[in-house]
Amino acid sequence: MQLTDLSFEQHFVSELPGEAEAEPFPRQVHGACYSRVRPTPVAAPKLLAWSEDCAALLGLSGTIDAEMCSEVFAGNRLLPGMAPYAACYGGHQFGNWAGQLGDGRAITLGERLGQEGIRYELQLKGAGLTPYSRNADGRAVLRSSVREFLCSEAMYHLGVPTTRALSLVGTGERVLRDMFYDGNAAPEPGAVVCRVAPSFLRFGNLELPAARGDQVLLAKLADFVHQSLFPEISGSGAEAHGAWFGEVCRRTAVMVAHWMRVGFVHGVMNTDNMSLLGLTIDYGPYGWLEGFDPDWTPNTTDLPGRRYCYGNQPGVALWNLARLGQALGGLGVTEDAVRAGLDDYKLTYEATFGIMLANKLGLDSIEEESKLIDGLFSLLQQVETDMTLFFRRLAEVPMNEDLPPWALEPLVPAYYSDNPPGTELMAWLELYRTRLAAQGVDEAQRRARMDAANPKYVLRNYLAQQAIDAATAGDTAPLNRLLEVLRQPYAEQPGQEDLAARRPEWARNKAGCSMLSCSS
Ligand code: AMP
Ligand code: MG
Repeated sequence: MQLTDLSFEQHFVSELPGEAEAEPFPRQVHGACYSRVRPTPVAAPKLLAWSEDCAALLGLSGTIDAEMCSEVFAGNRLLPGMAPYAACYGGHQFGNWAGQLGDGRAITLGERLGQEGIRYELQLKGAGLTPYSRNADGRAVLRSSVREFLCSEAMYHLGVPTTRALSLVGTGERVLRDMFYDGNAAPEPGAVVCRVAPSFLRFGNLELPAARGDQVLLAKLADFVHQSLFPEISGSGAEAHGAWFGEVCRRTAVMVAHWMRVGFVHGVMNTDNMSLLGLTIDYGPYGWLEGFDPDWTPNTTDLPGRRYCYGNQPGVALWNLARLGQALGGLGVTEDAVRAGLDDYKLTYEATFGIMLANKLGLDSIEEESKLIDGLFSLLQQVETDMTLFFRRLAEVPMNEDLPPWALEPLVPAYYSDNPPGTELMAWLELYRTRLAAQGVDEAQRRARMDAANPKYVLRNYLAQQAIDAATAGDTAPLNRLLEVLRQPYAEQPGQEDLAARRPEWARNKAGCSMLSCSS
């Protein structure tokens, strides 16, 4: 089906109270879940990238009309049935209640019934001012848009719950950004990403009416969440809300376990960036662990406390869920129900991550393997070790007989240091070998498990930056090549080995390749 043949729906706007369209001047919006607002047209939209997989979800297939797509997904043209709006939400940022935030530059165009009867929202990010833009411009720069576009699709193919990305459109306009927060703002090319998800509702959508004591709005929104996002949960009122809260807890646990499995660090786990569907949402200053370091955060704004570092993610998600539970307390959800949900989070996280870790090592289970696991994590931190390469290449070390003298060779590329651990690594491999034997895991089984759990290709920060540099210079080929390779992150893909390489030294401290700011 072609774009202009698509029909759109508007459950969110038709079922919930909202503000009628008005000038998008900054304001506090009360008693409404959203404000009707149109995208601000851009000067010269140009389609830079397109995800066919995501298009297929929506029932879009065949050759696309690039001009039409660029017009629609830049926000210059609305299709029949679209009813654009920006959502109103609040959030806890870096541990503190921040009051009203809202979609400051995201505008949902409409919903569409897609594959398997799932309804998807189409949302433009960078589409212009809304009542929630505060003192900002409602726009997004090309660099952050490339990063959101690529990572959304990469995460999906890695098997991580995530919002999706359909398109990346250059606006032909410049946006002023102070990338290093040093007073040197500079114009950068602008872009718009069309994101796709069954819902973009966040913990913060419920937290805001709860914090304002708006019981009526809170109840309406919670009923909507129950009926549209968790229709399988029966009953109504506080009991049902407690039940779907439990489901949010379990889904969040699974999402974070996947992040930990693949070495993804979100970077801004504020409650306004936590999806009620347990999807990874709002790709900003995220990053991928290269050297394994639990304290690593990609976000320069997070540096003082490292609240959102890799190792803190499971705990922060729990803290965020507690804030959501607190908000639901206003609807009569009991403390016991909230506690049960949070306990469920912990149990689900432990169980899910345990299975993932077992698969990463090709083992049946990691129960009773604490010596092996503790030894592994201490080894990974002793010398700077690339997490992705280490696990992927561990599958290449033969484990069916006595370790050969060359046993360490497959692992050498995983080390950023010239002095990989020798004796200790050998000792750990020996322990690993005995545990595999004790569990009766054969080599073929081990390899199959490991290759399905340990990606070869992840969106390394420097790879994203190279795609950004090229796209900024007008060449979208590297971006589209990355998109294609990241569609099969667990496959070997001969000829694409350079995209699986360890981070080169020049990228260690280069802007965009290691640390990022929120300025997007
Ligand atoms: P984030 O840290 O990206 O999740 O953003 C936090 C809040 O700031 C959200 O309400 C965003 O919509 C808003 N925001 C971020 N960047 C912009 C921008 N360029 N224009 C308007 N609002 C923005
Ligand atoms: Mg956000």
